[in-house]
Parts: sequence; structure tokens; C-alpha cells
Amino acid sequence: MTVRLRRLDGGETAVTDERIDALRAAFHGPLITPDDPGYDESRVVHNAMFDRHPGLIARCSGAADVIDAVNLARERDLLVAVRGGGHGIAGHCTYDEAMMIDLSAMRGVWVNPAERLVRVQGGATWGDVDREAQVFGLAVPGGVVSTTGVAGLTLGGGLGWLHRKYGLTCDNLVAAEIVTADGTLLRASETEHPELFWALRGGGGNFGVVTAFEFRAHPVGPIVMYGAAMYAASDAEEILPAWRAWTEGLPDEVTSRAMFWSMPATPLLPPEVHDRDVFITGAVYAGLPDEGARILRPISEFGTPLADLSGPKPFREVQRLLDWMFPKGQSLSYWKSVNVRELGDDVLDVVLRRGLDRPHPSTLVHVPQMGGAVQRLGIHDTAFGDRSAAYIVSIDGNWIDAADTEANVRWVRDAFNEVNDLPSAGGAYLNFSADLDSAGGTSAFGDNLDRLAQIKRDFDPENRFRLNNNIRPIDVSS
Ligand SMILES: Cc1cc2nc3c(=O)[nH]c(=O)nc-3n(C[C@H](O)[C@H](O)[C@H](O)COP(=O)(O)OP(=O)(O)OC[C@H]3O[C@@H](n4cnc5c(N)ncnc54)[C@H](O)[C@@H]3O)c2cc1C
Repeated sequence: MTVRLRRLDGGETAVTDERIDALRAAFHGPLITPDDPGYDESRVVHNAMFDRHPGLIARCSGAADVIDAVNLARERDLLVAVRGGGHGIAGHCTYDEAMMIDLSAMRGVWVNPAERLVRVQGGATWGDVDREAQVFGLAVPGGVVSTTGVAGLTLGGGLGWLHRKYGLTCDNLVAAEIVTADGTLLRASETEHPELFWALRGGGGNFGVVTAFEFRAHPVGPIVMYGAAMYAASDAEEILPAWRAWTEGLPDEVTSRAMFWSMPATPLLPPEVHDRDVFITGAVYAGLPDEGARILRPISEFGTPLADLSGPKPFREVQRLLDWMFPKGQSLSYWKSVNVRELGDDVLDVVLRRGLDRPHPSTLVHVPQMGGAVQRLGIHDTAFGDRSAAYIVSIDGNWIDAADTEANVRWVRDAFNEVNDLPSAGGAYLNFSADLDSAGGTSAFGDNLDRLAQIKRDFDPENRFRLNNNIRPIDVSS
């Protein structure tokens, strides 16, 4: 069967049976066309907003498959979408009639405990990394849901439970192997293609297909102190300022976040929070658990919690605690985030009002604390666009029924605009943003945009990798 694929210019091209068969003969992973069994299952991504139909899913088994796929794209001028863990909020990893270069079968993780280095294939999830690294009592700072992909999260920055102690995920990258638009496999590090290496630490998926990441790891756990107190949302007017005051004096070992959410009636949670709107104060202490127990105690003492889930826990368990709240392909999601340089009363007022007025129980108003190690690097040390945030306010809209999409998206935008208009707000976190701005989604790169555009021109002059927060390969200042 001839496969119809979208070209870069928006037109269509027919790739014949013979060409697909030739690719198949070389390819180790499956090439999945719309006529193949398993196609519908293979095209599902995390965010149900993106029920899209790629023209060809090239499920790579290694760098050689990625090179062949990129070469086909160049030869036929194809539009390509790159999928790592498939969690991208903006849905860029899939597109109708595009060729999806799918790394979801490339999930190997190798740990070098002596050097504290972890090598991770480009389609691995954080659960894969934690599983292997914790064997040696090590961790790479990743995200807070274990099914999230390493690739997208790292390329966009990466924050989780360890970022205040050990920095963003991208700050811990020591090298990456990447297939660039001309089909070349390069290694980028401080000493090899250093400009490309700089760009990969915050510049998103603009520069090619990363087949492997090499990270610096840190001793963490295996037991860490976890704090999570669930208060009635109606008490948040008192709890939220108390949490803010507490976070202002914290050591970097503590990474904390607060959020408005609603808890379903599930045996996984204490009955006291079933079907309740809650305000959660959460934290992890990256150090000795006993010390952590002392430092995190106030988390549960800002008022009277409905439930207190705090306690020493295996780090891997902490990393998976939220997974069940985010099942693959079931909710529709639209998230927008704002960086705030301080959590003034004006910001708290919006957070509180919007937190109490969420349109769907699965929607979160989520406030992670930043600072600590994130701010020990300068703004031009990596491509990550804004390190000035003391906190992020992330408005994470999630709902189930497509008929509710318009109302939910509008609510998220309105809430976002309210925070964004405040004097301490500015800049966004790429990974928590469904769409960014009228500048084509590039505001998250801040002052680093010009340099990124030059690197883009060097490594992807035709803008083959454009399904992302796209940096156009031109000098944007000219
Ligand atoms: C439930 C959930 C929880 C999350 N929690 C966190 C969190 O704790 N911290 C945080 O920082 N973020 C978090 N995020 C946001 C997350 O970091 C981004 O959505 C990220 O893009 C996901 O990466 P992925 O590889 O899974 O996604 P994908 O959708 O596969 O990829 C996203 C984009 O990254 C690029 N890309 C993917 N793989 C590659 C590759 N191998 N080479 C080159 N480019 C590639 C592509 O441009 C792609 O469109 C969360 C998202 C969800 C849905």
C-alpha cells in the first residue's frame, strides 16, 4: 500500500510500497502504517486532545533506525513529529499524516555507579531511570509522574522533587547523542559540539532526535522524607499564606509545592478526602529522613489536615504516587504556566480564587517552588530561558468530555491571564504550556532566543524539526 505523508510545504507525497519495503528491510523496529494492526493503539498519546493520525509511525529500536527515518524524511521532504514518552502537553509529538519518529521502544538505562553517570535511551520514562538508578541509591532529578518521558522533560528544562537541591534535569545533562536533520549521529557535550549541547539544555526538540542522554546522578534515598498534607480547600485562605511563609526560609534540600485539586473516592486514599476539594502542601527532603521529618513537620501543621500522607518512603514510591491520577489517553488537558519572581498577596489572591473555582475536579492550580540550585546557574549557561522564578503558577486544566473543551480552555486562559498581568509575573515554563504566545511559542526561551535561532540554522536550516515550540532558523534579531 502506498503511504500518503505530509511534506514540509504542507502538500502531500505518496511513498510507494517499494520504498516502505526497502526501509522495512533495514529497520529493526516496526514501521506502522494506518492499515497495520496495532496502528490505533500505537498512535495514542497521553493528552486525549490529540487524537491524531500520523501517516507512518517509525518505531525505532536504536540510533540506526532513527538515522534511516530522518534520511527518508529528508529524501521525501517529510514533516516529522518526534515522540519520546508521549506526555507532551502541547501534543507536538503527533500530527495528521506526518511521519512520527517514535522512540517509545528505546527505553534502556545503564548506570555507572563509580562515576555516578546514567545513560538513558531517548524514549525512556522517569520510571525506567528511577528503577535502575535506585539500585545504586542514585537519582537523576526528573519529574513527579513516573510515566513522563525523559526526552521532552529534559529538553524543556525539567523540574520535580529534587530541583532545588540538584538543579533542573537539563542542568544535570553531561552529554547527548542526537541525529540531526542531515542524518548524522553526533555527540554533544561541553567539549563536543558545545553550542548544540548548550541548546539542548532548555531549547526543546528543535535540533534533532536525541537517541541517548547521559546524566550526572546524585545519592538520593532509597528512603526519603515525603510530606503531603491534604487540607479542605475551604481552609486555603489561611493555609496558603502559611505555606508561603514557610517556603521562604527553606534549605535547598526541600523542594515543595502546593496545589488545589479534588480527590476521587478511591481505596488508594483515606476516606476523609473522598470526593473532596483539597489544598495540598507537599514536599520532599533530599537528605537524611530523620532530618527531613523535622524540617517537613510544619507541612502538616498549617491547620488541621483532612488527611496527612507524610512519612518516610522509598524514593521510587514517591516518584510513582501520582501516576494513577494521570492515566494515558483518557483526559483532555490544556495547561498554561507563569513564572513569578515573588509570591505576593496579589498572586496568592488569584491562586486562591481560581483554586476554589476550578471547572473540573481533575484540574489543578499548582504552585511549585523554584530557586535553590536552579538559580545557581546563570541565564546564559544553558538555553533554559528564565531562572528568575521564585515559584511557578501552573494552571493545569484536565477534563474528560470533549464537549467541555471550549469552556475549560477558556477558564485556563482567563486564570493564566490574571496571573500573567501581575507585576511579578513574566515568562513561562515550556513543559507546562500547551501554547505560549503570539511569538509562535518562543517566549519561554527569553533572552536566549537569538542564540538558539543561530544554532538552529547551523543544525536544522530547513526547519525539519518544526513540530515543537519552534525556533525558526534565522537570526530573529535581524
Ligand atoms: C502527567 C504529566 C506530568 C508531568 N510532570 C512534569 C514534571 O513533574 N516536571 C516537568 O518538568 N514536566 C512535567 N510534565 C511536562 C513534561 O515535561 C512535558 O510534557 C514533556 O514534553 C514530556 O516529554 P515526553 O518525552 O513524555 O513527551 P513527548 O510528547 O514524547 O515529547 C514532547 C516533545 O519533546 C520533543 N521530543 C520528545 N522526544 C524527543 C527526542 N528523543 N529527541 C528530540 N526531541 C524529542 C518533541 O518536540 C516532542 O514534541 C508532565 C506532563 C504530564 C502530562
